[in-house]
Amino acid sequence: MTAQLLDGNALAEQVRHEVKEEVAAWVASGRPAPGLATVLVGDNPASHVYVRSKRKASAEVGIESLGYELPATATQAEVEDLVRQLDADERVNGILVQLPLPSGLDEERVLSAISIEKDVDGFHPLNIGRLAQKGRDPLFIPCTPAGVMYMLKRVLPSLEGVNAVVLGRSNIVGMPVALLLVRANATVTICHSRTKNLPELVRSADVLVAAVGKAEMVRGDWVKPGAVVIDVGINRVEDASRPRGYRLVGDVAFDEVKDVAGVLTPVPGGVGPMTIAMLLSNTLSAARLANK
Ligand code: NAP
Repeated sequence: MTAQLLDGNALAEQVRHEVKEEVAAWVASGRPAPGLATVLVGDNPASHVYVRSKRKASAEVGIESLGYELPATATQAEVEDLVRQLDADERVNGILVQLPLPSGLDEERVLSAISIEKDVDGFHPLNIGRLAQKGRDPLFIPCTPAGVMYMLKRVLPSLEGVNAVVLGRSNIVGMPVALLLVRANATVTICHSRTKNLPELVRSADVLVAAVGKAEMVRGDWVKPGAVVIDVGINRVEDASRPRGYRLVGDVAFDEVKDVAGVLTPVPGGVGPMTIAMLLSNTLSAARLANK
């Protein structure tokens, strides 16, 4: 194996520890604990698991977690009303609407109902718009992309002039990662399902961020020797030898790429744990903003 593995669990633990200490100091100075409201609409099992972990992680660092659930039959107005109510609630510093919302609900309108000062997920159109504009700063950076950048900075303190390829252009991962890389002065190529010559483009990358949601799509011979490879993908593949009948793999063929890349993030235990750590950090920042 040539690649240095970046341990997301250890890095996330470090961030969580820092947030916990800062929250304790915040509360010791007489201010209320930061509050994070989670909004879960419908019965998506994965969403329930994610929200549960986010609430548990919040409690562990001293952030007050307020959970709200609506049925899959909730109307657009009901979801927006709840978000507005939370937006007006002083105990709530950050609002997290778990995505995806059930079909039929307008995600953009729901997210726009969160004021940008409470948009700890960083998906409000104004925060994303500021991320895309030169000379403007978003109040919050989306959590998974922030986790990707945190890991990259650990191994490449300067990304200036680096050739970066982002596989995927979703609102929650690919596009914000690409915007953050541009802000860090990398030269960025964004690839997606209509991209031609994908392996050739990927081979040009000194830094590769894979966020496509296709199990082990990036093969060893797609990767430039020594490249830094961040694998965001979380995909289930059948595996009868596992108690649950499946295992999790990334978008990168780990066994091949570990012998070519210079740095690689594993799945699980790579970017995944960073996402929640960044949410906690954003929630603490939101409390600071509200109490300026
Ligand atoms: P998504 O919304 O489905 O977007 C996938 C992107 O990949 C799209 O831009 C799509 O292109 C592109 N794509 C799909 N098939 C492709 C192909 N064959 N060749 C090139 N590009 C292709 O997914 P997402 O929400 O960004 O998530 C991506 C992966 O990250 C998933 O495995 C997800 O589970 C994982 N994820 C992990 C975390 C974490 O905390 N670690 C957080 C979020 C997501 P088009 O735009 O042309 O359709």
